[in-house]
Amino acid sequence: MPSVTFTTSGVLRKSALRQANDRLVLNTIRRNPGISRSEIAKVTGFSPASVKFVVNRLLRSKLVSDEKPESSSRSGRPAGGLRLRSGAMAAIGVEIARPDSTLILVDLDGEILNKRTVPFRAEPEGFLDELAATIRALAGSREPREVLGIGISLPGTIDKVAGRVIGAEGIGWVGVEAGARLRRQLEWPLFFENDANLSALAEQWYSPGEGNQLRYFVYIRMQGGLGSGVFVDGRILHGYSSAGAEFGHIMLYPDGRLCNCGNRGCWEQYASDAALVRAYRESGGVGGGDGAMLEESQRIVELARRGDLHALKALRTTATYLAYGFVSVIAALNPQAIIIGEPMASAWDLVEDVIQSELRARVPSYHLTGLRLLPSRIDSRSALRGAAVLVLQHFFTRFDHTGYDAAPSDVVMEAYG
Ligand SMILES: [Zn+2]
Repeated sequence: MPSVTFTTSGVLRKSALRQANDRLVLNTIRRNPGISRSEIAKVTGFSPASVKFVVNRLLRSKLVSDEKPESSSRSGRPAGGLRLRSGAMAAIGVEIARPDSTLILVDLDGEILNKRTVPFRAEPEGFLDELAATIRALAGSREPREVLGIGISLPGTIDKVAGRVIGAEGIGWVGVEAGARLRRQLEWPLFFENDANLSALAEQWYSPGEGNQLRYFVYIRMQGGLGSGVFVDGRILHGYSSAGAEFGHIMLYPDGRLCNCGNRGCWEQYASDAALVRAYRESGGVGGGDGAMLEESQRIVELARRGDLHALKALRTTATYLAYGFVSVIAALNPQAIIIGEPMASAWDLVEDVIQSELRARVPSYHLTGLRLLPSRIDSRSALRGAAVLVLQHFFTRFDHTGYDAAPSDVVMEAYG
């Protein structure tokens, strides 16, 4: 008999519960390729009968395959069991950024199948219409019903539900209704998120092993300013109006450099791609200067590797400022890890000692216990990867498109006993 299912939000519909159980089993199979039915029962706490019921449904929908051990493995290692059929569905990720916006089509494992770019234009309407047409073309390379949705990375302060850019000085958009315009032209579910949050999501999704080992961590994005994505108890911290975790605007110096937020002395004025380029010029470095900030800052990392002392000094100065901000981040959040994105991730071996020694000098040792400082494992397109993951995450761990936001583990799960 199905058990009564209550959540903090009320009673779940039976269809939603069925979908939640399907997604939990599917996600368990995704994370543990080759898993058996009895192992799924152990991991999920479902009864063996419930697991059999759900797995049969997933097999019928062709989302998983059931490989017989004897059909494979001549190496002696059993290769049978249940596996996700990663090609069964696809998702699209879009990163709206300057100078080019990039689109990827990925399979259920997040592997990139196809890619397009659209040159960014500050004039939103024409740009968004071209973007919508390109999304449609990319989705058209699959059966339309196989595309689960479109995840879109937006810079700056955004309303993620409406897909509205409240303020993104870096690309010159203020009050742009990107979501409304795209939704009028596209029939797939659209999901919006801030770029730094998506970089953090990508780190979590692609982290090895169980995937959810990272539950309390901060991602520091140093492209187009300093953005931060914060995970608390495995979820993105959004704040009351999805404008939270803006560590780039914590104030280091009340009389410091003017920030485009209107304040002075914000962290991002001292630790970002642009701040690195500025530090390079101030230390006497020359050359370049016309490229986009990311390319310019990556060039400085390469120069430092080739022994350019101005470039090395600029990197270590910027790393020192990065550490100043970490002092506040650590005090505020007690994270298990701080992950640092590009361009600093590529220069990690050149700067790690500066950051470590600043933190040891400024933070009580008991606040540093267990804290890991990690360079990002993903290249500079982490927000793009995260945009596609946003769709996949919704598919694997959410079960309702009406905004119910609980992970399946929060739900009582026995409906087939
Ligand atoms: Zn600011």
